[in-house]
Amino acid sequence: MRISASLARIIGIANVVVVTVAIIGLGLMPSEGRPHARSPLGAEVQNSVAPPTLTPVGEPPGVVATPEFARQVSANELGLVPVMMYHRIVTKPLASIDRTPDQLRKELERLAERGYVPITAREFATGDIQVPAGKFPVVLTFDDGHPSHFALGVDGNPVPGTAVAVIQEVAGKYPSFRPVATFWINKEPFGLRDHASQATAVRWLVDHGHEVANHTWGHRNLRALKRKKVHEQIVRLERLLEKLGVPSSRTMALPYGTLPRGKKAARTGSWDGTRYDFAGVFLAGAEPSVSPYAKNFDRGAIQRIQSNGKRGECRTWCSQHWLEWLDRHPGERYVSDGDPARISIPEELRGNIGAKRGLQVIAY
Ligand SMILES: [Zn+2]
Repeated sequence: MRISASLARIIGIANVVVVTVAIIGLGLMPSEGRPHARSPLGAEVQNSVAPPTLTPVGEPPGVVATPEFARQVSANELGLVPVMMYHRIVTKPLASIDRTPDQLRKELERLAERGYVPITAREFATGDIQVPAGKFPVVLTFDDGHPSHFALGVDGNPVPGTAVAVIQEVAGKYPSFRPVATFWINKEPFGLRDHASQATAVRWLVDHGHEVANHTWGHRNLRALKRKKVHEQIVRLERLLEKLGVPSSRTMALPYGTLPRGKKAARTGSWDGTRYDFAGVFLAGAEPSVSPYAKNFDRGAIQRIQSNGKRGECRTWCSQHWLEWLDRHPGERYVSDGDPARISIPEELRGNIGAKRGLQVIAY
């Protein structure tokens, strides 16, 4: 488990946010209080009979959006995007943030059934969102490089029950579900100690469209460190990735979701002659993220949602709550226009677009 005292702070923030959002929601949606009418999930997945089918990753949807088309698909590329946060995926959960393979599978199937299409954290933070028209991006993120996220079997395929195997199974059942996720790792990725097996693992992931990126070297609380030590923690992990032969990170997740005292030190800096400059730094909670095209998108502190049910504190800030909320508030959700070269938005949101976006805006 990687949760600290900052949890209390996050919950506090989450509660304020939820109340604020709920008030806004009440203003916009008279149906707020009405129980939503979604049916429960359908059939169970049969046990890993599905081959590891890989849909092409990064393939452009190939649509040229027009105002008419954008309206037709209710495109809103300034809407909210759920960035899902997972920790260990284990059959016998030991901590409240652990999820079982079955819980992960059910959540991913639910996302697939609702029309969500995974993109990586890098694609999200850089605004490279290639999702078919009318569909919704979702980012699947796994922290701490735990062995339950990824391991290769003797047959060269992901070991059943690992996060990667579950993602592949779901993609095998729902072909529109891109099997891509982001794995933020520390110094011993996936519990592997020797260089050769570490290299094999991270290269397999990158070759299959996943992102492997920076969760710092030693998973220290960055708030407790001097700025130079913050830079060192990040650069050491960047050097490991380089040694393992994969691209340098474009994103990082903060250990414990805690920003360093000088907030910018997490996003950009250098140590011992090595520089880093991330497109996105991710927090540990507790609401959907605003669109990367939005004026108020803060790439130095991107929100995520903990995967969990609705018990206790999770009642108002974990994934079940937020996914239901987004179902009840379709107008708040990011809906793709299917055209990566354009940003389609309802006319009334024109004022919310980020200034630096060189892409063509379609307002309808
Ligand atoms: Zn962590």
